[in-house]
Amino acid sequence: MADAQALAEMRLESVKPRPKVAVLGGGPAGLGAAWRLSTEGKAAVDLFEAGPRVGGNAASFEADGVMCDFGSHRLHPASDPKILADIKALLGDDLLLRPRHGRIRLKDSWIHFPLKPIDLATRLPTGFAASLFIDAATAKLRAPKPEIETFGSVLLGGLGRTMCESFYFPYMKKLWGLGPDDLAPTLARRRVSGSSLPKLLAKILRSLPGLKSETTGKFYYPRRGFGAISERLAAAAREAGANIRLNARVEGIEIADNRVRSIEIKDGAAIERVKVDAVWSTLPLTTLVRAAGDAAPESVRTAANAMRYRGMILVYLVLETDQYTEFDAHYFPELSIPISRLSEPKNYAASAEPEGLTVLCAELPSDPGDAYWPMDDDALGCALYAWLGAAGLPQSAKIKRAFTRRLPFAYPVYDRDFERRFATLDDWISGVEGLLTFGRQGLFAHDNTHHALAMAYAAADCLEAGVFDKTKWSRYREEFQTHVVED
Ligand SMILES: Cc1cc2nc3c(=O)[nH]c(=O)nc-3n(C[C@H](O)[C@H](O)[C@H](O)COP(=O)(O)OP(=O)(O)OC[C@H]3O[C@@H](n4cnc5c(N)ncnc54)[C@H](O)[C@@H]3O)c2cc1C
Repeated sequence: MADAQALAEMRLESVKPRPKVAVLGGGPAGLGAAWRLSTEGKAAVDLFEAGPRVGGNAASFEADGVMCDFGSHRLHPASDPKILADIKALLGDDLLLRPRHGRIRLKDSWIHFPLKPIDLATRLPTGFAASLFIDAATAKLRAPKPEIETFGSVLLGGLGRTMCESFYFPYMKKLWGLGPDDLAPTLARRRVSGSSLPKLLAKILRSLPGLKSETTGKFYYPRRGFGAISERLAAAAREAGANIRLNARVEGIEIADNRVRSIEIKDGAAIERVKVDAVWSTLPLTTLVRAAGDAAPESVRTAANAMRYRGMILVYLVLETDQYTEFDAHYFPELSIPISRLSEPKNYAASAEPEGLTVLCAELPSDPGDAYWPMDDDALGCALYAWLGAAGLPQSAKIKRAFTRRLPFAYPVYDRDFERRFATLDDWISGVEGLLTFGRQGLFAHDNTHHALAMAYAAADCLEAGVFDKTKWSRYREEFQTHVVED
């Protein structure tokens, strides 16, 4: 009798409808969640992506026969082993393991990046290399901890003045548009993996023969561009039953009696309302709060209005030559050259195709409203070629054309007040039943793709029998605080 009842309960359980989860955003975080939820049969998933393709900032597109990314993207071997194993299984032989072969410009010299001991010793102007290390080694003694910490004070204490002033301070000013003392100390801990001399030395020494692992100085890269990771995730999610809609911009989220009820989608000219049990958003927090309208208290709307994401213009040059240089990327810390990085996509994928043509991608941090944002493609292309010349890079190849892409949400800006504003938003979102925010934009996190995927996996793990375990999610959120960006 007891067995019959248990069987009946099991049957009831198996026919219990799965919750209807709307995943907002088709970048790695949204796709990862859609895939895990569908594969594990935990929810009926509809994913809504505003753009014409999946992948978000980590997508790829084809230009003149070359697969291009939205700025330099590599899959770091430091990825969680389970996530790496899944990506390897999804991509098979299309996932290449490539040696890193970049250069950074320091004091008018090009040195290998990631840093190598031999290169630091032989290529940097002699006195400069010595003062970098002496200064870093004695930094703690000469830079007492100030009462109010900033990004600048943490790095000065960790690395010393020479390293900070010749590299990190100008580079960060370029990336965020703010000086080192206007940025939060958290940025130093989350964004700079070598933020103190011991950490930096450990990183450099790991490149020595005998100390290095199989993947030291290497990165994973899909043959058909970084976006292939997202495309395969999307295909796997669809196969598992997820419905992925492109060109579907979420414009509204209806919240009533403190619970999400429906979302409003703009698809072309049409507006559609979709009833949902839960909304898992990977949209920028500012977009999420705007979509919630008056349901968000005024204090939340005020905090959201003050949150800033740094934008970026990607300037692409199509050149009539097989290869521009042998290097995958060039890094430009100095402020006199406005771009932060230049990459050559063919070199990432070790591709010789197409013959006689290559593409360069330059990352120009910029915000809507500044001088670069409204410039047209040709003007930006010409400016870029001039900057490359000023850095001593070749200018001999003929430019076939220049084109640009703009990322309005490239980097979350960690100014000194961001934590207070984030906490206001986070408290409100966490209290709305059925609403979850995660991913790079959704948790305002400086993240690599594997971190965004880790958040997606964690979120899916928290949903059991239609109930989201908030305590478990809080524990995962603490883990996310330990994510440190790999460059
Ligand atoms: C220049 C640059 C270089 C990087 N290099 C690396 C690297 O080398 N390695 C690495 O691992 N990571 C790198 N990253 C980070 C990587 O791009 C992110 O970790 C990853 O894209 C985060 O994924 P996500 O899904 O959280 O967010 P996103 O990729 O930003 O995806 C969010 C999605 O939401 C969509 N969306 C926004 N608004 C709406 C709306 N209203 N309705 C519907 N959809 C909407 C967007 O179109 C987007 O597709 C780099 C990032 C940048 C900017």
